[in-house]
Amino acid sequence: MEEEEDFKPAPQEFFGSPNYPTQPTYKEEIFPPDQPTDLCNEEYPGPLNFEVYIIPNEQKTPWEYSPKLNKIFIGINLKFPVAFSVKTRPNNMKLYVRATPVFSQAQFFQELVHRCIGHQHPQDPTNKGLLPHIFQHIMRCSNEEARYFGDKNEKARLNIVLPLSSPQAGTEIVREFYQFVCKNSCPLGMNRRPIEIIFTLEDQNGQVLGRRIVAVRVCSCPKRDREKEERDAEKSEKASSPQGKKRKLAPAPPSGCDVDAKIYPLNINVLGKHNYLEILRFSRGLMATEILKFEGSSSGGEAPFRKSFDEINALITVFVVITWMFINGAQAQVTFSRDWNPGKRMVENPEFHNTMKTASTICHLLINQVRQLAACENNRGDDLDPGTTTIFSGRR
Ligand SMILES: [Zn+2]
Repeated sequence: MEEEEDFKPAPQEFFGSPNYPTQPTYKEEIFPPDQPTDLCNEEYPGPLNFEVYIIPNEQKTPWEYSPKLNKIFIGINLKFPVAFSVKTRPNNMKLYVRATPVFSQAQFFQELVHRCIGHQHPQDPTNKGLLPHIFQHIMRCSNEEARYFGDKNEKARLNIVLPLSSPQAGTEIVREFYQFVCKNSCPLGMNRRPIEIIFTLEDQNGQVLGRRIVAVRVCSCPKRDREKEERDAEKSEKASSPQGKKRKLAPAPPSGCDVDAKIYPLNINVLGKHNYLEILRFSRGLMATEILKFEGSSSGGEAPFRKSFDEINALITVFVVITWMFINGAQAQVTFSRDWNPGKRMVENPEFHNTMKTASTICHLLINQVRQLAACENNRGDDLDPGTTTIFSGRR
């Protein structure tokens, strides 16, 4: 369902295998520049009639492609084929395909798409045997000659470039395999923001000869999410006239001076464990978005948002662990103290006091939730897995 529940490292053979470059042993000396030129999300077949196909999912594999939305719905760490074709291939001209992930929403288009902190950590199993500059990329390509460009710390867009080989005899397409190694829902990564991949056909100077766009959702329930988004699209089509694909670039992010960091305690009763967890996750996502706005600035303005992020994250972790323990009938005893109060050495801080008051209230709500859960026989708990809670421990 979401990022806590089903993070499973890819099978080891995916990584550290000859499929991925572990050393800079690229054969081609000439490559396009490391950054895309004329980056936009306008479809452009170009002079060579560049086409990109997501090969329909005929077998029972856990990913789906919606032609209606031109969008792939796929789980994390799963390879999927992408087919490229050009109608007229000039002789003696090397062609390259660049895949650049961007945020679909105009207000985030300027921001770089990169992996979340948990997944880009060197200790993450998916990074084993890879060069560090690959860790930040949400996408990977199985082609040995693929090169990974960009660095979020240098504000350079992360993208993958590979030489477009000639199609095999009898076919017109060249097939390459990609996979995503971070989910849309990962906090401090994509953070629930929708993305799309811009595939550009380029010559060795980086001149764009064609451009195709494919929307992506990396999630745990591709089928469910595809059906939901298709239904939503139908509804909005009926409600409004279709709009053009071209979009304006987003305005610059707001400066730090108009940030509202005042604490507003919230005490509401929520029905249902799923809804409760969703509200916590949504709140965490909001805080992560605020933190990301300060990325690269040295103002320190993200501190209150990070504190709130950590607190909400801790609540989620506690809730998931307790739920899991009850659902799995673990032989453990959980003891709650009457309240969550700061220790004696805690400096008096009214804002912190309010937060702890809220946490205390949530603690009581949690106890009630746990009681309800203990009485519930139908929950199997396959959507709750505390094994991943260590990824975001709420400490940095
Ligand atoms: Zn991630």
